[in-house]
Amino acid sequence: EPSHDLIFRSKLPDISIPNHLPLYDYVFQKFSGDGDGDSTTTCLIDGATGRIFTYADVQINLRRIAAGLHRQGIRHGDTVMLLLPNSPEFALSFLAVAYLGAVSTTANPYYTQSEIAKQAIASDAKMIITKRCYVDKLTNLQNDGVLIVCVDDEGDVVSSDDGCVSFTELTKADETELPKPEISPEDTVSMPYSSGTTGLPKGVMITHKGLVTSIAQKVDGENPNVNFTGDDVILCFLPMFHIYALDALMLSAMRTGAAILIVPRFELNLVMELIQRYKVTVVPVAPPVVLAFVKSPDTERYDLSSVRMMLSGAATLKKELEDAVRLKFPNAIFGQGYGMTESGTVAKSLAFAKNPFQTKSGACGTVIRNAEMKVVDTITGVSLPRNKPGEICIRGDQLMKGYLNDPEATAQTIDKDGWLHTGDIGFVDDDDEVFIVDRLKELIKFKGYQVAPAELEALLISHPYIEDAAVVAMKDEIADEVPVAFVVRSEGSQLTEEDVKSYVNKQVVHYKRIKMVFFIEAIPKAVSGKILRKELRAKLETEYPK
Ligand code: AMP
Repeated sequence: EPSHDLIFRSKLPDISIPNHLPLYDYVFQKFSGDGDGDSTTTCLIDGATGRIFTYADVQINLRRIAAGLHRQGIRHGDTVMLLLPNSPEFALSFLAVAYLGAVSTTANPYYTQSEIAKQAIASDAKMIITKRCYVDKLTNLQNDGVLIVCVDDEGDVVSSDDGCVSFTELTKADETELPKPEISPEDTVSMPYSSGTTGLPKGVMITHKGLVTSIAQKVDGENPNVNFTGDDVILCFLPMFHIYALDALMLSAMRTGAAILIVPRFELNLVMELIQRYKVTVVPVAPPVVLAFVKSPDTERYDLSSVRMMLSGAATLKKELEDAVRLKFPNAIFGQGYGMTESGTVAKSLAFAKNPFQTKSGACGTVIRNAEMKVVDTITGVSLPRNKPGEICIRGDQLMKGYLNDPEATAQTIDKDGWLHTGDIGFVDDDDEVFIVDRLKELIKFKGYQVAPAELEALLISHPYIEDAAVVAMKDEIADEVPVAFVVRSEGSQLTEEDVKSYVNKQVVHYKRIKMVFFIEAIPKAVSGKILRKELRAKLETEYPK
């Protein structure tokens, strides 16, 4: 390793992180034998129904579910897919799977049948926990032997011969029958799918050690402005299948003994009503939600004064938008977090108390503690000083173990010295604050949701009249980026834009839908065969201005 690397570290001192503990033991440490937590405090509030689970309820329920999963044949190392909207059942299932030493692969319940099948097959899921309304999309997987566990809502029509296991039955298992499994810190606990810097979505193997480290970096140790406290009520409408809500909200909140108000989807007025009703103190958001708050004429109608902190992440937040939202919540501290599924949280605001360390608008925080960051020249790989933009690299125990069954993609992302290359271009300023200015990688982010160009390109070229195709991001006022396609038609074909869109768009979840199609003669490529995406993006701006 070059000794002249310029390494940026947190201004907070490193702490000792108990990352030898399995995730379950770490998260509920406060509520175990020698902890000082009161198990009768509220852990989960179901925003949809008003149901409340205390920390004691959560622990007993998840151990019963773990026993039920075990009875259904789930063992250490097995993969269970969670195909659930935000709900207490999501939280309980994730923790039960972790308790068993098994692996949760989380997926968007709005995925189409084929998107679900791809992930379920690639991750070798033995079981899918879902809701009745999504079961129709799982028939083929069920026929292939995947066990389906179903959470039923009141009014769902349940037939006795559909072959699904009832979630309610799982919660009735006798947890005393279950021996506590041996778990190694290196075991995978969570496996979300992410395309990373290039290619198709891949299983991101996040270990117990990695996730414990990532949570501890945010909420453990002496910290003048601890992220969450036991008195906080934290709103969770961001999707729990994504690592941001799972790691930085749900698990981090549980570690501190806070209450989590779970909301199945974002609807501004409902959210404001819930803030008022439950005196919510922390509102984690993504940029499109910030925009909704800023544009809404209704914010005056609700009492939002309980909010002490608002946190944005998952995509670039424009400085103007950040300034505008700060005015709407004058009593709240506003901050950003920046991270990536593969890397855990990289940087985060609010590491310190208000003044003089409040981060600047547009900054996404200072580097997380117990980690190292460097910024490298994208061509030479040489590490750069402050104020010079380059690729952000991060090193620490919080990183993924690697991509499932893909050592090549793993080696391309985490180098031999342990540095994870984020594919983001940014710099560190004189106050140690991190700014993201561009993205080197091909990933498109629609309202913070991942859209992998390679996935759409594979669908496009499977069309009999498409010779070649490339997908790139086009800037969009509301979604930030939307996918658009450049398509080379096969000779003599009369294929229209509508044909192309309807062919692809019925196979993918709404945010991956192709918004525009441009027919061209040839896709510009490097000699290596790599698509020259920069050229296509430039073409968008010059030849097809909006
Ligand atoms: P994901 O793996 O889905 O969390 O996507 C990670 C990517 O989202 C990062 O590599 C960035 O490109 C982008 N991202 C996440 N947080 C931020 C932020 N605060 N500012 C700018 N981009 C962000």
